[in-house]
Amino acid sequence: MSIVLVPIGKLDKEVNEALKDTLSKVFNRRVSVGKAMPEPDYAFNEKRNQYLSTAILSVLMEEKEYATYEKVLGIVDHDLYVPELNFVFGGAIRKVAVISLARLRQGFYGLQEDSRLFYKRTLTEAVHELGHTCGLGHCRNPQCVMFFSNSLMDTDRKGSEFCPVCKNKLY
Ligand SMILES: [Zn+2]
Ligand SMILES: [Zn+2]
Repeated sequence: MSIVLVPIGKLDKEVNEALKDTLSKVFNRRVSVGKAMPEPDYAFNEKRNQYLSTAILSVLMEEKEYATYEKVLGIVDHDLYVPELNFVFGGAIRKVAVISLARLRQGFYGLQEDSRLFYKRTLTEAVHELGHTCGLGHCRNPQCVMFFSNSLMDTDRKGSEFCPVCKNKLY
């Protein structure tokens, strides 16, 4: 019963360390940092200058290194997309999830960096995608972490907590 965090490509180590303990408490599971994966060049779309999230999820799913873990969360510092959307903050299929850090920094929007806010957003996205791997769908409560984030405004408003209904389904 454990979760593995997988750094994909160039990534600040502090992110994993910061997420580890909190995710362990939220999901009541052991969380470890797994072997890093190389840059996901296979997922790069030159026209969009973005990476296809589902391609990364497939590779994570097939990687034997992580097969013994109950949940896998890939963390990547590139902008992600799926064909029908301009971008995605992350994605999940079955036991495997991925989050992108690219749009969680104030600097992405030409604003001054704020490490506290960046960490809060990272945690929110990580809990949301891992929530999907636990079988939770999107929630209609805008304060719940499982609410669908269309923008950072949604992410910042909802925060990283489950609403009582989702919490109930989770445990
Ligand atoms: Zn979602
Ligand atoms: Zn909810």
